[in-house]
Amino acid sequence: MIKEIENIDKIIKLLKKEVKDFENPVVSKIGKIQKDPFKVLISCILSLRTQDKTTGPIALKLFEVADNTQKLSKMPLSKIQKIIRPVNYYITKSKRIKEIAKTIIKNYKGKVPDSFEELMKLRGVGKKTAAITMVYGHKKADYIPVDIHVHIISNRLGWVKTKNAEQTMDELMKIIPKKYWGDLNDLFVLHGQNVCVTSSPICSKCVINEYCPKIGVARSR
Ligand code: SF4
Repeated sequence: MIKEIENIDKIIKLLKKEVKDFENPVVSKIGKIQKDPFKVLISCILSLRTQDKTTGPIALKLFEVADNTQKLSKMPLSKIQKIIRPVNYYITKSKRIKEIAKTIIKNYKGKVPDSFEELMKLRGVGKKTAAITMVYGHKKADYIPVDIHVHIISNRLGWVKTKNAEQTMDELMKIIPKKYWGDLNDLFVLHGQNVCVTSSPICSKCVINEYCPKIGVARSR
């Protein structure tokens, strides 16, 4: 049985209203516009430890020349590196995405697998990337992708008491009603990028302030 989270309906409703004014996170935006698991998977890898404003244009530039696994697998590494150079760890990421494209061709007939477990077998794909590909690429809201923002906010709200994003994902999937799984990542990422920021959250302007125990928040604005 799901442990009831106090005021979750109100919190989700308030956040949905708040984030209307914010720009969608790059990976879900690519999923919504391009509707292609390949593009969601690759842009998610490019986005790791890189700001959305850098990832978005670079991912689109790459997809102009390689919009499927075949094209990406045949691209010379030097060309991939040249295109994705502005993203952090571009050398490792270029090797990784080329290798992933090759593996998908070899093992999955060129189609990005629509199974969380199979996605996790791809080198360089962790829980977050696999969950994002399932939710935003394959449109299967059977997972809750957890990045640093989802991890931090869930702990500040006292919904979970976890040490890392992987643990948070496991715990949230036990306690969040399924009707919210598809929305939670976008809502918390946007709230985290704009209000509940990592170092010093802007609690004075937070729409869910009255429902938040602010666990672990040492300094706020
Ligand atoms: S009240 Fe502060 S800590 Fe709680 S969600 Fe809002 S910004 Fe984050």
